[in-house]
Amino acid sequence: MVELNLKHISKKYINNSEYSVKDFNLEISNHEFIVFVGPSGCGKSTTLRMIAGLEDISEGDFEIDGVRMNDTPPKDRDIAMVFQNYALYPHMTVFENMAFGLKLRKYPKDAIKQRVEDAAKILGLTELLDRKPADMSGGQRQRVAMGRAIVRDAKVFLMDEPLSNLDAKLRVQMRAEIAKIHQNLGSTTIYVTHDQTEAMTLADRIVIMNAGVIQQVGSPQELYNKP
Ligand code: ADP
Ligand code: ADP
Repeated sequence: MVELNLKHISKKYINNSEYSVKDFNLEISNHEFIVFVGPSGCGKSTTLRMIAGLEDISEGDFEIDGVRMNDTPPKDRDIAMVFQNYALYPHMTVFENMAFGLKLRKYPKDAIKQRVEDAAKILGLTELLDRKPADMSGGQRQRVAMGRAIVRDAKVFLMDEPLSNLDAKLRVQMRAEIAKIHQNLGSTTIYVTHDQTEAMTLADRIVIMNAGVIQQVGSPQELYNKP
């Protein structure tokens, strides 16, 4: 069954004369790991933000399991997003950062505690729950950003260059953890990166974008190991 359907989606920002995304058409299956690649400004983030509901879709329809989602607010979509800059709240502790989305959705207190503790265990953050972001390393902050997404137990994960601020060694380590989390949670993931190795190792299918349009879609083997 098709999980996500992006049907001829286009985006024109109000203050921009050009389309940022043009006629983006893609069916994403349940539990697929999709990676968007392409040069800066080609529309990768804009596409993710439309899926998350953070930007309006100018034309076309976005469906989850056949249900049109264009007008569904972000908090009512079964989607969690991890941003490149982590977007943590500096005045909140790790626990509060991870609990924030659940509070917003009115989860009961003990359910929040349980979920945050479970996610912290998965990400090795148990000892850091009382820290604030300023007192943590880049790698630790990145884990908190991941934790904030996985506590939601969302069906769909969107990640916009989540590893680009980390050093090479940590990137390799976190890449493996992201693959594991995708497997264990059974989620559907859309992942944006500039890094071809990340794309090759993580993707079931890679979507190559350029100037707002899809240029090619295929498995890493199909795209990069052509005879
Ligand atoms: P990236 O290339 O990693 O997506 P950018 O530096 O292009 O990051 O964008 C950072 C932020 O600025 C994003 O929230 C994006 O939506 C916004 N932005 C990018 N281009 C423009 C623009 N021309 N006008 C207004 N906001 C923009
Ligand atoms: P990418 O993520 O591939 O770097 P973006 O989706 O951030 O690309 O940007 C695609 C295009 O849309 C770029 O030309 C960018 O300047 C433009 N853009 C992004 N955000 C905005 C915005 N808020 N307002 C106007 N133009 C934007």
